[in-house]
This record gives sequence, structure tokens and C-alpha cells, in this order.
Amino acid sequence: MLNGERKIARPLRWAMVGGGRTANVGYKHRQGAMRDNTAFQLVAGAFDIDAARGKDFGTNLGVDPDRCYPDYQTMFREEAKRPDGIEVVTVATPNSTHYEITKAALNAGLHVICEKPLFFEVAQGEEIKALAEARNKIVGVTYGFSGSQLMLQMREMVANGDLGEIRMVELQYTHGFNATDVGDKISEGQKWRVDPKIAGPSFVLGDLSTHTFYMSELICPQLKVRQVLCDRQSFIPSRAPLEDNAYVLIRYENGAVGRLWASSVNAGCMNGHRIRIIGSKASIEFSDHQPNELLYEVQGQPIQKMIRAMPYLYDACNADERLGALHAEGLIESWANIYLKFAIAIDAKNRGDEATLKNLVYPDIDAGIEGIRWVQNCVKSANAGGVWVDFN
Ligand code: NAD
Repeated sequence: MLNGERKIARPLRWAMVGGGRTANVGYKHRQGAMRDNTAFQLVAGAFDIDAARGKDFGTNLGVDPDRCYPDYQTMFREEAKRPDGIEVVTVATPNSTHYEITKAALNAGLHVICEKPLFFEVAQGEEIKALAEARNKIVGVTYGFSGSQLMLQMREMVANGDLGEIRMVELQYTHGFNATDVGDKISEGQKWRVDPKIAGPSFVLGDLSTHTFYMSELICPQLKVRQVLCDRQSFIPSRAPLEDNAYVLIRYENGAVGRLWASSVNAGCMNGHRIRIIGSKASIEFSDHQPNELLYEVQGQPIQKMIRAMPYLYDACNADERLGALHAEGLIESWANIYLKFAIAIDAKNRGDEATLKNLVYPDIDAGIEGIRWVQNCVKSANAGGVWVDFN
């Protein structure tokens, strides 16, 4: 169980690029990173594309105004001159900027935590992986709900054969918040998401399904994708060529199969994020809306609900428990678990502790690259008319 006691010798000096006052995701990063004040300390930032607003915002967060910078280039340069300069930076800006900011950060000697989708091209991911290795740095990717300890329960159940042989993987990440065309009233955060120059080659595939795809890989690491077939639509025509709905069929190398539905036009749906793993003996299911429980269905037996923090769960799951039974946990604890693992990974990298790195389950650069590969192949399949394409 986690209780906030230090896991590394001292908190890491941390900065953010993006995540400013108007940003959608910035607060989740700060909540996750600083849930325990023993892992990260926010000491600097280039929080906003609008420099004045970014400085005002950072100052209001309690950051030294002299360390609220107008842009990331200035921040990396000025912080490098300080004996107490930043050690790690989070990149929480729109997609098209991730690659250049991550590269600049690594070249400035920083560890990086970057938003999804990591980059647009697998080749960019491989290049950054090589650069991170050369610089002895960690690159982590914030797949938000993947830090839920129930993901580790599902992973242990799969590994221990509780479900039997895994046959099917059912994935869904949908909502209905973009079901209507709002025309000129579109928000800033939504406008760039349907602009291929900023969002990249996809909308919901990158925005939503990269999370779910990573979570399926975390739960079932033994399943390797062989082929995907994707069909995608732009129900609001102005979003074309980017999709607001996509269906993907998956074939795994060992004969298992899967299906993913990503959508932002699932009208009436507030949050349909669901993962169901079906084996030869039983199935296990997680849903964002009930983040404290798993549905465990053994063929021929009454349906069971497994509740977070209970002693019948695997130790690997309960090790990431924060509040204990009786109290509800959710998204913020999941982010806090991811950030804690980023801190442990960075500390281990700094100390050359390869054994810790090898055993740590967290979204690393390879998880980011797999997310890019997922989007690239889905788009390739859809653009060819919905045909099977090889995954690698
Ligand atoms: P947003 O448009 O709401 O906010 C972007 C923020 O970045 C703003 O504060 C903006 O001023 C700032 N910014 C833009 N360019 C900048 C630059 N060059 N330098 C400094 N600041 C800059 O976007 P958002 O919804 O917060 O998404 C940001 C990223 O996070 C995207 O890649 C998105 O896919 C991802 N995201 C992830 C999750 C998750 O659960 N992991 C959730 C939402 C968004």
C-alpha cells in the first residue's frame, strides 16, 4: 500500500511545457505528480503559448515568477545554468509539438514525460528512443487510466491462467461530446484535434484508443498484434479526413482476436471506456465508470464483483493501493501511480539500477512507439478501404 512515504531519495525538480490555465489536461499532471510531495516538485514552467498568461498562471501555482518562462527553449537554456535546475519535464502541449519538444529536452539533458499520442511516425519514436538511450534518460507516456492498480490485477489474472487461454479482447473508448457540429463555437482544444497538421493522421484513434490499446498490452503482454483492419468515419463532414468514429478488428499472432471501438459521436454516452478480456474459462471486465471494481465471470458460476483493496486481489495490485477499502479511488490515483513509477524509473536510470527498470510496469518509450504504430496501421488500413494490414 502507498502512503506517501518517499520511494526515491528526494523529489525530482520538475517543469511543465503546456498545461496552462485554459488547458484540458494540465491539472491531471499536477495532481498525479504532486499527489505525494516526495516524488516531484514543480519548480519551473513554460505553461502557455501566451507567455504573459503562462507567467501569471505559473505564479498563481506558486512557481517562482523568474522561473515561469515565455517558451520551452528559454526554459531549457536558463535552467541548465542553475545548480538547482530542472531534471525532468512534462510535455502537455498539442500533438504536433511533442516530437520537437521531447528532442530538445533530451538534448538539454532532461528526462521527459510526454502526452499521447507520442509522435506521428514510428521512425520518430525509434529516433527518440535511441537519443534517450544515448543520453541515459527516461521517456514516459501518460496513458491516464493505465496506472489503476486493477490493471495489474487483470494482468496477474491473465498471467496466472485464471481466465484460461485468452481468446478475445474487447476494447471500447467512446463518448458523445462531439456528436453535434458546433460550427464556429468549437473550443480551442477541440479545433486542433481535427486539424491534421496539429492532431496528426487521426482524431479518435490517437486521442482515445491509444490509451485503451496500451492498457490491453499491459494486461495481455503475451498477445502480439499480427494484423489490424480499420474502418473510420467522419460523421461531422468538416472533420474529414480525420475520423470521429472508428472500428478496428485485431488478429493476434497466437490466433486470439480483438475488436476496438473508438468514438466521440456515441451520442448520450458520458464515458464508455471498457476493457473485457475473454478466456476459455472466464472473462474479466473493467469500466472507467466503476473504477473501483472488476467484473469476474466464470462460466457456469454466479457473476462476481471484485472490489479494489480487498485481500483476495493479487499483491501486485494491492501494492499500488492508496486509500484502502471503504473509500473510492479513481482517475487521480491512477495518474499518481503512473507519476510515481516515472519518478522511480528516473531515479533508477540516474543510479544505473537496471534491475529496477526491468521489473517496473509503466508506460515507457516502447509503449509510446506501439501507440504510434497502432494509429499508423489503423489509418493505413482505413485509407485503403478497410483491409487487413500487417502490424509490424
Ligand atoms: P489544450 O489545447 O486544452 O491545451 C494545450 C496547452 O498547451 C495550453 O495551455 C496551451 O497554451 C499550451 N501550449 C500550446 N503550445 C505550446 C507551446 N509551444 N509551448 C508552451 N505551451 C504551449 O490541449 P489538451 O487537451 O490539454 O491536450 C494537450 C495534450 O495532452 C495533447 O497531446 C492531448 O492528446 C493530450 N491529452 C491527454 C489526456 C490524457 O488523459 N492523457 C487527456 C487530454 C489531453
